Amino acid sequence: MASYQAFYRQSIEAPDAFWSEQAKLIDWHKPFSRICDYSRPPFAKWFVGGETNLCYNAVDRHAAQRPDAAALIYVSSETGQERSYSYAELKAEVVRMAAILQGQGIARGDRVLIYMPMIPEAAFAMLACARIGAVHSVVFGGFAAASLATRIDDAGPKLVVSAEAGMRNGREVPYKHLLDEAICLAKRPPAKVLMVDRGLHKDWDRVAGRDLDYAALRAAHMDAEVPCTWLESSEPSYILYTSGTTGTPKGVQRDVGGYAVALASSMKHIFCGNAGETMFCTSDIGWVVGHSYIVYGPLIAGMTTLMYEGTPLRPDAGIWWRLAEKYKASVMFSSPTAIRVLKKQDPSWLSKYDLSALKHLFLAGEPLDQPTHEWIMDALKKPVIDNYWQTETGWPILATVRGIEDTPIKFGTPAFPVFGYNLKIFREDGSECGANEKGIVGIVPPLPPGCLSTVWGDDERFVRTYFSLFKEPLVYSSFDWGIRDDQGYHFILGRTDDVINVAGHRLGTREIEEAVQSHSAIAEVAVVGVQDAIKGQMPIAFAVVKDPARVATPELAAVLEREVMAAVDANLGAIGRPGRVHFIAGLPKTRSGKLLRRSIQALAEGRDPGDLTTIEDPAALEQIRKALGVWRF
Ligand code: ATP
Ligand code: MG
Repeated sequence: MASYQAFYRQSIEAPDAFWSEQAKLIDWHKPFSRICDYSRPPFAKWFVGGETNLCYNAVDRHAAQRPDAAALIYVSSETGQERSYSYAELKAEVVRMAAILQGQGIARGDRVLIYMPMIPEAAFAMLACARIGAVHSVVFGGFAAASLATRIDDAGPKLVVSAEAGMRNGREVPYKHLLDEAICLAKRPPAKVLMVDRGLHKDWDRVAGRDLDYAALRAAHMDAEVPCTWLESSEPSYILYTSGTTGTPKGVQRDVGGYAVALASSMKHIFCGNAGETMFCTSDIGWVVGHSYIVYGPLIAGMTTLMYEGTPLRPDAGIWWRLAEKYKASVMFSSPTAIRVLKKQDPSWLSKYDLSALKHLFLAGEPLDQPTHEWIMDALKKPVIDNYWQTETGWPILATVRGIEDTPIKFGTPAFPVFGYNLKIFREDGSECGANEKGIVGIVPPLPPGCLSTVWGDDERFVRTYFSLFKEPLVYSSFDWGIRDDQGYHFILGRTDDVINVAGHRLGTREIEEAVQSHSAIAEVAVVGVQDAIKGQMPIAFAVVKDPARVATPELAAVLEREVMAAVDANLGAIGRPGRVHFIAGLPKTRSGKLLRRSIQALAEGRDPGDLTTIEDPAALEQIRKALGVWRF
């Protein structure tokens, strides 16, 4: 077996040779003339002049060679549906969807927003956009109207693809009225809405002249033929918004060729997924993991992708493993939160099914603590690979690169830098940390293929946000603290910015604060995430009311607390609902007027509030202590 070190070193020291080899994993309509154009740092263009298409690589090339092989298997434990599409059938569906979009005037470069539950049509819509060169922007179905409206305004879609409802935990989650509301709020509303009617929610409102019926249009395009539009490698393929801690969410813009090559090489060297095998990734298409490892990655590799609507516990805690057995999953991908949920169940669920096809389970999205890592590996008796990455990068930054070398797994660490990432840990003055020294995880540009090319519509924000950590050297900041031990294993120690991670869903504190403030009684609010054994983090709000009479008695405060929670549900979605809303007279701020969020969070988690030399009004912290019932300093 080759050595991880040698493979990694080649990717950093001889990137042209390295990536030209990896580029052979995908099909090119026109060969590229240059591997990387880095003449305008920190902007990198990969595979310059090359022409290709994500849909061609994910669907057409396999449909031509193995038309009857299963491409997409859909399972909903919510509705009881199970459907399977061969590569030929998937191609036919994607082409029909592409024809519908073209029929509505959608062309290369136009944006299409996808706001959908986990149904196959969501994948068809993504692939159809890729096919015709339209730029998709998938928005997670749990987001409520206001969040959706912000994303509509930033992306400026001509058309939205949606469905009337999702299902979660046996309950219907209606989508259509949220979408209608968002379109009302939006300053740049889409002209058309393509509606998939799942038959879950009866009598949803149809807006005449705007809303289109997918079933009818599909029937009209049964035998459509829509060729792939060949795109230059660095044309945009999609926009995906981050949680948006710092104001309006950042629209991560992805390219075409670099992304295809990065995914293909990750499928081969990291996930070890081969054509004909099955990949089961339990994420949602609304997140980056869903984009890369439910839709594009496994299909580019010619695998069968299992798309699952449902929770890990319904109808029972064995559902995932039963599906893994039934469809002979060889690669699984999930999140630490989900595993912590399963850990509360009877471990015998994990040994009940025949998982002999399963090679390994990958977990990403948040820190995988050592006890959970150990527990799941022991229960599954399979390697469990922690991997660290971001919406921005699109594929793993740190992982065990098992396809190259089976390096030993160490609990609690996502291990080593992945090929292509010149990863270093920096002190706050820009110098490099030594072994075992905590610092900021940074990537020396150019970022490898697959990573964001810019922030949608805002090159300046791309540079300012990600590359302004130090004057010198020019470094991409991950906004995470990390440490490298003396054996080269990396540990991620938390974020340098403020994002709350609720059960694997990332919410900007800012977004929750805005939702709390949508209640007219609230003057000001700070939201922090506190550790929660199951969900990872739970948002807690500290709010200042406009009229103290509203919280004059505990009973009145309890009424208002419930109202505020309902306002968050309505504006952001129940995933963002604070566990508690405490009412206080003023928020602790620095003299420069910046909220001392870290101190609030420390108090909420029972820790020392840290350096308070710049606090404007120390009494505000006393109030927080009082609200939390923490009297001791
Ligand atoms: P925003 O950028 O808007 O603030 P976000 O950072 O929460 O949103 P993502 O891009 O989905 O959204 O999450 C990436 C972050 O998740 C990483 O920066 C890191 O903090 C955390 N993370 C992901 N995987 C791991 C992992 N394996 N171990 C530790 N942390 C992880
Ligand atoms: Mg981030």
